[in-house]
Order: sequence, then structure tokens, then C-alpha cells
Amino acid sequence: MTNTHTYDVVVVGGGVAGLSAAVSAAESGARVALLERSTAAETGGNTRYTEAFLRMQSLDEVADGFEEILVDDFMGHPDPSIVNDAALAPARQEPLYRATHTVNPDYVATLAEQAPQALRWMAGHGVRFDFVPTPFLTQSTTRMAPVGGGLAIVETMGRAARALGVEFHFETTARRLTVSEAGVDGVLAQGPDGSALFQGAVVLACGGYQGNFEMMARYHGDRAMTSRPVARGGNYNKGDGLEMALALGAATAGNFSLFHAEPVDPRSGEPEAAIFCFPYGVLLNKEGTRFVDEARGTVDAWYERTTRSIQAQTEGIAWVILDQQGLAVPNIMAGVRTDIAPVTGATIGELAARLGLPVGTTEATVAAYNAACPDPAGYDPLAPDGLATTGLVPPKSNWSLPLEHGPYVAYPVMAANVFTFGGLKTTADAEVVDRDGRPMRGLYAAGELTGLYYSNYTGSTSVLRGATFGRIAGERAAALRAAGASVGDGQPLEAGV
Ligand SMILES: Cc1cc2nc3c(=O)[nH]c(=O)nc-3n(C[C@H](O)[C@H](O)[C@H](O)COP(=O)(O)OP(=O)(O)OC[C@H]3O[C@@H](n4cnc5c(N)ncnc54)[C@H](O)[C@@H]3O)c2cc1C
Repeated sequence: MTNTHTYDVVVVGGGVAGLSAAVSAAESGARVALLERSTAAETGGNTRYTEAFLRMQSLDEVADGFEEILVDDFMGHPDPSIVNDAALAPARQEPLYRATHTVNPDYVATLAEQAPQALRWMAGHGVRFDFVPTPFLTQSTTRMAPVGGGLAIVETMGRAARALGVEFHFETTARRLTVSEAGVDGVLAQGPDGSALFQGAVVLACGGYQGNFEMMARYHGDRAMTSRPVARGGNYNKGDGLEMALALGAATAGNFSLFHAEPVDPRSGEPEAAIFCFPYGVLLNKEGTRFVDEARGTVDAWYERTTRSIQAQTEGIAWVILDQQGLAVPNIMAGVRTDIAPVTGATIGELAARLGLPVGTTEATVAAYNAACPDPAGYDPLAPDGLATTGLVPPKSNWSLPLEHGPYVAYPVMAANVFTFGGLKTTADAEVVDRDGRPMRGLYAAGELTGLYYSNYTGSTSVLRGATFGRIAGERAAALRAAGASVGDGQPLEAGV
């Protein structure tokens, strides 16, 4: 016998997106349930473990160039997989070179416009924001963060939700959406006491699928085998929300072949054991050769693309080699977040032997790099200095000092999965859209579960989008119920129907 609980709004997931939805729905007068797979002690998914940098120049203004960088050259071109929406369906096929799935410009404009309001709203609930030190020695944008990181958001917004009467159901995993003629009207979930039906408009905010290795292999093939979530919070995000909505015919957005990749020390079990110091040394693969320009620009803008190149190497691993000049870069350890000591060697040959790299090739690679380094005049470790190698393949574009001052150190680097890019397509009102371009009544989504990114992750925008569209989703879901959408017959819709 399935227990039935009736609410106005049912939120799935207790990270920044779910908590924002729950608080805003409750503020709008709705009776709200929040379903969360984890225990109360572990709640908050990825949000719990992030420092939560926010691409802002002040609490009232997003960073310069925010929209431009999110929307690429293909801005405004329709998603060619949407067939019935008159506004979107092209009369003829898009030329192939332009028929790239693109960021929805309305969605991005709403994010840019409403992100400051969402942060002010959170601040009103007690979250404090400030400029805090970042791990990036060179940066392309401005960043703020909640003081205390994502955990402060989980705790403060969790308290606000409880004070507004939101009922939390922990260790309760949403499994399937239910539908009636009125649209989506609830969620079937598995809780500590068995299965239960939670009726109400639904906000899915249960993260990406980085914690589901079957889905990772399905979308990412072999690359799934050389990566894992960057912090344990990602293990809870198993793609349930995506699969539930796809079973009802939801459309997708974002690039299903990519995830936000971060370079980490694979020996460490720390959350975000990031290694961002490679612009000041060289990256070598298992064969002892260089394979990428380690220093194309500011590290915040380029680390993801460099990490993808690392993942493409044998066994998905590389080593960053630094000498004493590299280690002398001011504050270099801000970009080395592992708790495991580096491997050291008095000479490059000794280091290579300790790393298990072919000694002769490694020595030859470093010698060729050293010979290609320019006169060091103008060296500036804290800004792209244009100190580029000459005649080297691949080149190194900045900070090219020879590696000649031992002892030398090395950190291994692999790609960790911060979150997956592919997700649900939504309107700027956070309504999930079906494959004909129509909003799915009663179904909203926010946060990582929604697809937004296609090529490079626009840094420090994921928490921001979770807060912004979570808040919008909660308001809209509450308004739908207030407008009289009835609780339906709670029939689960089988996949494929
Ligand atoms: C170490 C680290 C550093 C990061 N740094 C930054 C940064 O500086 N800036 C930035 O913008 N982003 C950053 N990110 C990414 C960002 O933190 C996340 O993308 C964002 O917090 C996701 O929020 P969310 O609410 O969508 O998902 P989450 O916070 O992951 O919450 C999803 C919740 O849903 C729950 N859940 C999953 N499935 C179910 C189910 N079936 N039923 C019930 N509950 C379920 C999970 O347990 C989880 O609590 C970082 C992430 C990590 C891990």
C-alpha cells in the first residue's frame, strides 16, 4: 500500500537549486515537500562541497561580458530537434555548419538579469557574500562567493525553508513522475518506510548524472572510466531526474558528450584536490612527452580545456613538472589543493624514474622545451606575459621559463567530473519543455539537471544558475497550484508510453 502525501509543490533535491525552489514556493504560500536521497547529515549534494564562486562584480551586477561568454557565435539559432514550435521550427533545414545546438539566449538573459536579485534574496535569508581568495593565480573575470561556501547555502537556506514550513523527507529517493490530465502532478518515491506518493506540482532539482557510471559510460564512452565526481556530493546525483522527465518526452539541452572537467590529484580523496599550477611547468604523459600548450591564457579560463587534453592521454593521466622557479611563484600553493606530497627528484632523470616515465624520452622532452624558451625578460607570473616558446610543438604561450633549477617536483593530474553538461531543456520560467517545444504543465527543473553548457564551462555560473532558476521554479510552481491546477489521479507514466 503506497502512502500518499498531498502538497502544493514537491521539490526533488536539497542543493542550492532545490532549497531555492522550496523557499520561494513556501514564500509564495505553497505547502512544500522537499525530497532528498541522502541523510540529513550529508544533504546538499554538490552544493555542500563547493566554494561556490559566483561570476559577479558586485552583489548587484554580474561580471563584465557575462552574457556574451555564455552565448557563443551561434546565438539565436534554434534547436533543430524541436519540431512543432512555430517560432523555433525553421522552414528549411539549418545549414549543417550552423545547426549546432545552442544556448537559449532568453534563458541566459534571464540568468544575467535575475542572478543579482536571487543573491540579494539569499542575503535576506542570512547568506553572506564577499570577495574571497580563489585558487586561480591568473583570472579572466571577477568572482564573489558565499562566506562559508556552498555549505553555508545548504545550512542557511535549509533553516529558512524549515522556518517557512517546508517539510523535509530525507533518505527519500524520487523514482517516477505521476501524471493526470492536468499534467505532472506528483512523484513516486522510495523512503525509509517504503514507497510513497507525493502529490503536487514538481520541481526537479536533483543534479546531473555524474554519480551514475552506467549513464556516464552511455554518454561519454571510455572517458567515463578515467574520471569520478570531484567530491562525494556528486555521487548522489545519478540522473534520476533526467530519466524521469525523458520518460515523459522531455527535451534536452547542453552537450551530452561533455562534463565540467577539473584537474585533480588522483591520489587524493579530498573534495576538489585541484592542481592548477601547470602553467608554470610542463605537462608530460605516460610516454614522457608534452601534448598540450600548458599556458594558453589565464588559468581560470583554460584549465577545463587543458584537462580534456589530459584525459585524452594514455590512461587519462599526466604529470605536471615544476622546478624551483615554478615553486617560487608567489602563492603557487593556492593552486595546489591536494593533501598528498609531490614526487621529487634531484634531476629530471631521477624524477622520471620515480614516476615510472621513460627516462630518456622525458629528459629529451624537457631539454627540447628548455631550448625553446625565450629570454626571461618580461616574465610576470601573475598575468599572461607572452613569454612563449619558439619552434616547439606543441608550443607554450606564456610563462615559458626553462626547467633547470632542481630539485624538481611532480604532481599527477587526472580529470574529475564536477557536473555533467547534458540535461533537461527549460524555458526562462524554469518549465521543462517537451520535444515539440511545449512547456510540460506541472513540471519545472533547475540547477545541474538542466542543460546549459556546450563547449567550455563558463566558470562560476553553476551555483548562480541553481539559485536563480530554483527561485523562479518555486515561484512558478506555487503560482500554478494557486491558479487551481488540481491534484490528479497520481498515475505513474511508464517509460516509453
Ligand atoms: C568541489 C566542487 C567545486 C565547485 N565549484 C563551483 C564554483 O566555484 N562555482 C560554481 O558555480 N559551481 C561550482 N561547482 C558546481 C556547483 O557546486 C554545482 O553544480 C551546484 O551546486 C549544483 O546544485 P544543484 O542544486 O543543481 O545540485 P546538488 O547541489 O548536487 O543537489 C542535488 C541534490 O539532489 C539529491 N538527489 C539526487 N537524486 C535524487 C533523487 N532521485 N531523489 C531525491 N534526491 C535526489 C542529491 O542527494 C543532492 O542533494 C562545484 C562543485 C563541486 C563539487
